Amino acid sequence: MPDMRDLVGALREQSGEFVALRRDIHRHPELGFQEFRTSDLVAQRLQAWGYEVTRGLGGTGVVGQLRRGDGKRRLGLRADMDALPIQEATGLPHASVHAGLMHACGHDGHTAILLAAARHIAQHVEFSGTLNLIFQPAEEGLGGAKKMMQDGLFQRFPCDAIFAMHNMPGFARGTLLLREGPTMASSENITITLRGVGGHGAMPHLSADPVVAGSAIVMGLQTIVSRNVAPLQMSVITVGSFQAGTANNVIPNEAVLKLSVRSLDREVHQLLLRRIGELVKLQAESFGVQAEVDFQGGYPVLVNTRAETEFARKVALELLGPEAVTLQAEALTGSEDFAFMLDEVPGSYLYIGNGDKACGGHGSCMVHNPNYDFDDANIPVGAAYWSLLAQRFLIE
Ligand SMILES: [Zn+2]
Ligand SMILES: [Zn+2]
Repeated sequence: MPDMRDLVGALREQSGEFVALRRDIHRHPELGFQEFRTSDLVAQRLQAWGYEVTRGLGGTGVVGQLRRGDGKRRLGLRADMDALPIQEATGLPHASVHAGLMHACGHDGHTAILLAAARHIAQHVEFSGTLNLIFQPAEEGLGGAKKMMQDGLFQRFPCDAIFAMHNMPGFARGTLLLREGPTMASSENITITLRGVGGHGAMPHLSADPVVAGSAIVMGLQTIVSRNVAPLQMSVITVGSFQAGTANNVIPNEAVLKLSVRSLDREVHQLLLRRIGELVKLQAESFGVQAEVDFQGGYPVLVNTRAETEFARKVALELLGPEAVTLQAEALTGSEDFAFMLDEVPGSYLYIGNGDKACGGHGSCMVHNPNYDFDDANIPVGAAYWSLLAQRFLIE
């Protein structure tokens, strides 16, 4: 068997074009569902390399399909394309030209990696089966993955397994981190509206005060994590916003609380939602205030399946050797809409280290930091990984 590090080397030699492309996308960030320029670039490239290109799923989503031989296996590889509403502070030559918009999560890098793999696979990899490259819009909170699925992604492009890769600052660049089981948290947004009876601040007995009720509810919510959820289960309830009233001497009619709820287990997630509903309703009632709890949905727990993660680990070890691969990484409390895809199709979501040096303009600031930048040295590593994974998966 040839040394697979040669594959990384080969892709490194061809990576100049993709580094330039990554920086071009970085310079022109687009928010979720507005990735018009980015999806044009993706579609043009895929078409030029012989992919059958389908556009319009989830609005700006792109699928590139390559079929070879009579192999029955169908593989999906997914990258995200959207940027964030952040003012870039890197001062780099390829910094965003759009005020208040920035690729601060490295989705420019994920797109470039998958494109570099797309060309290499089309031109140099022998396989038999169907390769579906999925470029999705709006990963950042807007659920672009779900939107593509609602538009028939897996009916039109069935996949036996799907994989996705995200860069992760804090780990050595070019290393891969895998994990079986729950890997990213569920995330649910909840808005609680408390309707009381407003009045004069000097005559509280004539009112039903939603501020006092809301304050009790904020404290009561803390007991759900500490008293209802088993201590070894990770869960978070954060009240990130509490809006009520305008003046010292006026008891308002209404208070609005906005919550973020996270966990790493589907049952715990249901428990959290159920207890929030019960606790808010009864607490509000005890203050003579009416409560409306609006569960706005969010992202489910991301669960990597066993067989597909084991396969993804084997490919990582073959490509990079054990010193550059973490076989069972820690779970994270962030969330990711690839979870929707994994609820329907088995697969695995892995990380590529984006550098472990302290934040300071060398690509190792945390994602969503205004000084963050994707490390271009990851493009050949990530592309080599996708190429080898496709080659090993798509066999007759
Ligand atoms: Zn992000
Ligand atoms: Zn991201």
